[in-house]
Amino acid sequence: MKASTLRIGHRYRPNRLAPDYDAIVIGSGMGGLTTAALLSELGWKVCVLEQHYTAGGYTHSYERNGYEWDPGVHYIGDVGTRTRSRRMFDFLSGGKLEWAPMAAEYDRFYIGDKIFNAIAGKQEFRDNLVQRFPREEQAIDRYLVLLAKASKATSALGISRVLKPWQRFLAAPYLKWSNPKWLYRNTYDVLRELTDDPDLIAVLCGQWGDMGLPPKRSAFMMHAMIARHYMHGGFYPVGGSWRIAESIIPKIQKTGGEVFTYALVKEILVNDGTVTGVEMSDGHRIDCSCVISSAGIGNTFGHLLPDAVTERAGYKKLLPRVTPSFAHLGVYIGLRETAAELGIPKTNFWIYPSNDYDAAVENFIEGRSTEFPVVYISFPSAKDPDYLNRHPGTATVEIVAPAPYEWFEKWQGSTWGKRGDDYEAFKKELGERLMSYLYDKLPQLKGKVDYYEVSTPQSTNWFAGYQRGELYGLDHTPERLQQDWLGPRTRIPGLWLTGQDTLTCGVTGAMMSGMLTTMAMVGMRKMGPVMKKVYG
Ligand SMILES: Cc1cc2nc3c(=O)[nH]c(=O)nc-3n(C[C@H](O)[C@H](O)[C@H](O)COP(=O)(O)OP(=O)(O)OC[C@H]3O[C@@H](n4cnc5c(N)ncnc54)[C@H](O)[C@@H]3O)c2cc1C
Repeated sequence: MKASTLRIGHRYRPNRLAPDYDAIVIGSGMGGLTTAALLSELGWKVCVLEQHYTAGGYTHSYERNGYEWDPGVHYIGDVGTRTRSRRMFDFLSGGKLEWAPMAAEYDRFYIGDKIFNAIAGKQEFRDNLVQRFPREEQAIDRYLVLLAKASKATSALGISRVLKPWQRFLAAPYLKWSNPKWLYRNTYDVLRELTDDPDLIAVLCGQWGDMGLPPKRSAFMMHAMIARHYMHGGFYPVGGSWRIAESIIPKIQKTGGEVFTYALVKEILVNDGTVTGVEMSDGHRIDCSCVISSAGIGNTFGHLLPDAVTERAGYKKLLPRVTPSFAHLGVYIGLRETAAELGIPKTNFWIYPSNDYDAAVENFIEGRSTEFPVVYISFPSAKDPDYLNRHPGTATVEIVAPAPYEWFEKWQGSTWGKRGDDYEAFKKELGERLMSYLYDKLPQLKGKVDYYEVSTPQSTNWFAGYQRGELYGLDHTPERLQQDWLGPRTRIPGLWLTGQDTLTCGVTGAMMSGMLTTMAMVGMRKMGPVMKKVYG
């Protein structure tokens, strides 16, 4: 297989580095790029180091055989009007990032033999649900009230992440008041008190795959965030998800910073308990007293910092309180006709064997069922109004499904494209199983597929730098959301954190984590004018 030629960022070479930087960011995902861009806005010269051959982290795209796919971005919510998220995207990209709305029926849930749609717009969403579940009208309205209450608490969660420990102590009564305990109950229990209709609960939780945990394991707060995020529909970055990084990088370059690719950081250097820089995989050391890691909690404390430093700072005791999220499979499909010719919709499909999502996941993990507990199908070329300008006469489809990491553990540390015949045979079998879900829903595609390839959790490790093929970094359990140490500040002077593990997953979650990290680093007095530019 040929590597993709779609590349963003500059290839790292020690002699391409500036003599000094104000900060080093490890990882060029949305969290890292946002932090780097906001610091650059404040005049900092920032060096972003990305191990992949292209920048963007999970927002990167790749091209092969005349097709282009986006492994980690299928739709983003809350960008249709001048919302807070949209303004931040506009600011970071200098207004260059455009968004295309999906169909009004942006998500379709196939639950057993029933079909439900998520409809864009709060009133439309409500009316559609009431029409399908007329006896549950009151429950649906009460659910919408809970979502609104949860939204306020989300802002408080963000604020609490920025506070210094003593500030958090002083703010404790406010945080307790704005973050009531029921937000940390599991999603299922909260919904079950509103209704006993299992189909309604299943429809309300139809997007559980967007944060990786089924309703009995996820925190209601996280469920509410996702539900509100997509309440006004799904949007797709015009030109593909690689446009996100491409449009942000110039801001970082403006003050002398750069985003380097093929730049694997081997170690965060610590002397006398304080950060002094990083060591690259080629042995080159970059001195800098400020390092921001967006490489994830597991990587940062489990691999990048010396063991003794992690131990001394007390992180060894904290790490068992969080768990990596589920690993996943991806299928990337190319067709030699356009989405319009093939009748491919601008709607994501979620396919579930039954309305008991938790049981389906458990049966799958325990090996009692071979049926995937969820299969997600997305149609990037149909959503992107610019796709045909880049790849005329073609269409693309992507499939995502969970897969226990243990299935792939024996290939840990192996090289992409060189994992042997047994790996290829296993991928082939999984690919065929997942393609049958696509043909079942869109039988007109049979015989039209020109090319497809399968990614596994080892592909995730290789390209996104994770250790267990994590789909969304850490699991979004109620326990995780209550870990105050998962924020921008660390116990190691000079080391900061950003990215999905410090707030929540999602491109917008990672972007907002970047804003919070910058705020924590420079303080509100300096951040105020930047916030005014973004939101004023
Ligand atoms: C299959 C899938 C589908 C998704 N769909 C959506 C969606 O539709 N909408 C949505 O909003 N979100 C979606 N997400 C989630 C979203 O993409 C992520 O939550 C978000 O992009 C994470 O951003 P981040 O900056 O925290 O991390 P990442 O994007 O993972 O960035 C971390 C970066 O650090 C780099 N790195 C790690 N270690 C090192 C090292 N030692 N040296 C140098 N670099 C290193 C990695 O290569 C990576 O680029 C999806 C994710 C997946 C996996």
